[in-house]
Amino acid sequence: MSDVRLVGVAGAGTMGAGIAQVACLGGFETYLHDPFPESLERGLEKVRDGLRKGAERGRWTEQQAAAAADLLHPAPALEELASCELVIEAAPEDPELKRDLFRRLAEVCDAEAVLATNTSSLQVTALAAAVERPQRVVGMHFFNPVVMMELLEVVAGTESSDAAVATAQAAGERMGKQVIVARDGPGFLANRCARPFGLEALRLFGEGMAGHATIDRIVRMGGGFRMGPFELSDLVGVDVGFEVSKSFYEQSFHEPRWRPSPIQARMVMAGRHGRKSGRGYYDYAGGPHEYRPQDPEPPALGGSGRVAVEGDGRLAEELRQLATEAGFELISPGDSNGEVPHLLVDASVGRLPEESLEALEGSGASCILCVDASLADLDMGGGAVGFHALPPLDESQIVELTRSSLTSDGVAGQVESFFNSLGKHVEWVGDAPGMVLGRIVCQLINEACFALAEGVGSASDIDTAMKLGYNYPRGPLEWADLIELDQVLATLDALFEDRREERYRASPLLRRMVAEGLLGQSTGEGFFRYD
Ligand code: NAD
Repeated sequence: MSDVRLVGVAGAGTMGAGIAQVACLGGFETYLHDPFPESLERGLEKVRDGLRKGAERGRWTEQQAAAAADLLHPAPALEELASCELVIEAAPEDPELKRDLFRRLAEVCDAEAVLATNTSSLQVTALAAAVERPQRVVGMHFFNPVVMMELLEVVAGTESSDAAVATAQAAGERMGKQVIVARDGPGFLANRCARPFGLEALRLFGEGMAGHATIDRIVRMGGGFRMGPFELSDLVGVDVGFEVSKSFYEQSFHEPRWRPSPIQARMVMAGRHGRKSGRGYYDYAGGPHEYRPQDPEPPALGGSGRVAVEGDGRLAEELRQLATEAGFELISPGDSNGEVPHLLVDASVGRLPEESLEALEGSGASCILCVDASLADLDMGGGAVGFHALPPLDESQIVELTRSSLTSDGVAGQVESFFNSLGKHVEWVGDAPGMVLGRIVCQLINEACFALAEGVGSASDIDTAMKLGYNYPRGPLEWADLIELDQVLATLDALFEDRREERYRASPLLRRMVAEGLLGQSTGEGFFRYD
């Protein structure tokens, strides 16, 4: 049924009221139902209020608000949804309650009506099984706040018909949403692909790679994310996040990538639930935002001395360009007339060729990009600094550094001031392939690859979901194309080797694409084409 005119919304709480508002704005006659009269009244008032306020703020005109309000109808009894061609359920997240509601809706509504659930953690297939014709049940997963968030995931359960999916998709578009289609499974598409953001951060924190505030700063200032993983966890609720983690782990029959962290469990035991309890990873005694210091201005660009930057990837290119702009004399080992650099920046992935190493013998300090191994594995001679940053470098304000017990303070200082001279802050972290940001981003890419290969969503829908649903600075697959897929694979393989843990097992799809030479922007094709 694609020409929907009447929409029912069952449940008039936070999500139901938002859905009813966008349905009215989309021109649907909208019937809002809630079994509790006071909840229904509150929901109706919320819709009317939202329409009024939106007009005051210029989001739509007074006339549009009035026309939308005229389309809103209270439905105190479920039977009043009988003529709706699409019903969206936004009742509490209780499987038995929802299954019972679907059973009753199937009886009340026309046999052709599409029944949708807004569940975020239950599987659509399990709810659909409660009704006689599960083909007509789909997921319509809106994001909170519904009116502001552009994304809508339409979820196809095992039995959902193409027609039901198409109906939900068309209705969602009329409600002003950017619709993506996802296959049923734990967390559908967006929540699933976001898993590594928090979980990898917890692992980094647990391993002592960096403190939580440092991780947040690196992710924000180095990766361009709006919020760091620990800030986000405090906002969502550490207890809520822990429940979601456990549910993913259970639903997937213990997928190692989704294993909850003991840190979450301990935080919950301690009652540190985040902003709502006054304390989570941060302390909110001074008010909700006071813990977060202002991000400092980037250091001024400018330096001098001879520098050699080795490597032929995008990062090496960007470093050479930035070093030249900053005033360094860039030399290359082949034509250096016997001059040795004051600083050797090895930004190659893989070991430097023998002749380069010979030519660079005697250079001053050196720093090595830790992509395909840790500093301990790469710096055979000892004494170097490890570094990591992700392209595009001009959008990143932080370079991560690591040192070993053999690195002198002099060399550490020289490398730090080199990156400062390029206008970058530095953060010292522990030693691991990919360090902090690389590990988080490569795991986000890896999860997106698994989801893509499993048919959970298309490449462009995955990227859209993460940008619109989570405000990511760019989609994980677009980012992979920029970093280059062989580098992402090298980081994952190195982590797998270094940690001997299943959670770093690279997606077979990623490995196959690298083998086929589909490396991303540099080769004209990766997850997307670049003509
Ligand atoms: P809520 O508690 O604000 O609202 C639930 C409403 O359902 C209440 O008004 C309640 O009176 C009503 N209700 C209770 N029993 C009912 C029944 N048998 N039939 C119809 N309505 C009934 O909850 P919410 O945050 O709006 O969440 C609703 C659904 O949306 C849940 O499945 C939740 O997982 C999902 N969801 C929530 C968010 C979010 O951020 N809040 C985001 C995406 C999805």
